[in-house]
Amino acid sequence: MAVKVIELKCIGCGKCVRVCPFDAIEMKDKKAIITDKCTACGQCLEACQVDAIEKEEEKRRAGSVDINEYRGVWVFAEQRQGNLLNVAIELLGEGRKIADALNVPLSAVLLGHNVDDIAERLIKYGADQVLYADHKLLDIYTTEAYTKVIYDLIKERKPEIMLLGATNLGRDLGPRISARVHTGLTADCTKLDVDLENRRLMQTRPAFGGNLMATIICPDHRPQMATVRPGVMEKAKYDENRKGEIVKFSPDLKEEDIRAKVVEVVKAAKAIVALEDAKIIVSGGRGLGNPEGFKLIKELADKLGGVVGASRATVDAGWIEQSHQVGQTGKTVRPSLYVACGISGAIQHLAGMQESKVIVAINKDPDAPIFKVADFGIVGDLYEVIPELIEALDDVDDIVERFKAVSQGA
Ligand code: FAD
Ligand code: SF4
Ligand code: SF4
Repeated sequence: MAVKVIELKCIGCGKCVRVCPFDAIEMKDKKAIITDKCTACGQCLEACQVDAIEKEEEKRRAGSVDINEYRGVWVFAEQRQGNLLNVAIELLGEGRKIADALNVPLSAVLLGHNVDDIAERLIKYGADQVLYADHKLLDIYTTEAYTKVIYDLIKERKPEIMLLGATNLGRDLGPRISARVHTGLTADCTKLDVDLENRRLMQTRPAFGGNLMATIICPDHRPQMATVRPGVMEKAKYDENRKGEIVKFSPDLKEEDIRAKVVEVVKAAKAIVALEDAKIIVSGGRGLGNPEGFKLIKELADKLGGVVGASRATVDAGWIEQSHQVGQTGKTVRPSLYVACGISGAIQHLAGMQESKVIVAINKDPDAPIFKVADFGIVGDLYEVIPELIEALDDVDDIVERFKAVSQGA
């Protein structure tokens, strides 16, 4: 408990009981008693007019550290079987901005086996330093091995900020590290900023079903840890001439350190929808009316050389796999062209696609909110509009083919 009542001062007025949002104060014999429900929010301190409530000393808090000892920004460079994930490049772009603002180096943390080429690329993508743990037990991800190596690195080098991708792996690893180093972690951030005055990372993420954006800080513990959604931040630029330091080491890891054994890695039989990397996405919503409607969406997507996306309503209805879902609880995308067909434009859907370069919306309701973010809007029945679009694209193909034939014959 981080607040306590000074019994002698308490006059039993009960004000603190009324202001406590967590029902954490009880009255006994006209004295206030703080219970285990207390979250140390501090509201009762302000309410008590006789200063009968005080905060216990900060140093008593579990894991509290001297935050001034912590410097530098770290990015976890997630790789799978030697392939660097795009989210790592996005984090390098964002990490670079934060490190420059704080005037500290940006380090990439790379774990794996024989992935030296990735270490080089991380420098070209903006890292000043790569902390590269090379070990055969890091070849395939296991929570325990990765947590141990990164925990040891944090204890030794003390970064003030650490960012991970909100991928399946990052969502497993991030909380394990933060629990071990006794710090906080903000999951699924969509925006990051720094308060330069006190070097605080301002971590913004959707809250309460996406109805508001909450900005979260971690004032007393370090590092400040956040997972960031893939596709939200802009990728770092690749600079062939960039130089930096690669600190390669072989961590002290033994088979006994890893209780869970990976027997086999089996790739999902389902085709993985590469929505985050797609340049063109054609998405279908409840306006399709039935699952068969996605055939038309696929036809248009194929015609444009794109992939199929979907709103959550269609996923929930079982019309299409969840891997196609765009939005707050789906994927965040920023293609060159996003075509929304029969999608109303709920805030949770917009959260995943409004950064697209060009948005085209097809909806029969002229007041549908999707038109507010659309660059081009077509008011009409999608079952009439899409076939006409496909036909028009066929005509374009035809014209191109004829043009090619004429120019080759000439
Ligand atoms: P609707 O809102 O029902 O819209 C259908 C649209 O189709 C209407 O605008 C209608 O005018 C139009 N239409 C109907 N017939 C036709 C036709 N023949 N031709 C043309 N237009 C037609 N949603 C997401 O998409 N992604 C998310 O990640 C997501 N996460 C969520 C997380 C939370 C916590 C919550 C609470 C909700 C989330 N949602 C998400 C759901 C979201 O709030 C909406 O319910 C959902 O996006 C609606 O999907 P829709 O636009 O397909 O359906
Ligand atoms: Fe006691 Fe202060 Fe609470 Fe009043 S507000 S009951 S004086 S602790
Ligand atoms: Fe309640 Fe907050 Fe006071 Fe704890 S610090 S007793 S939670 S008002």
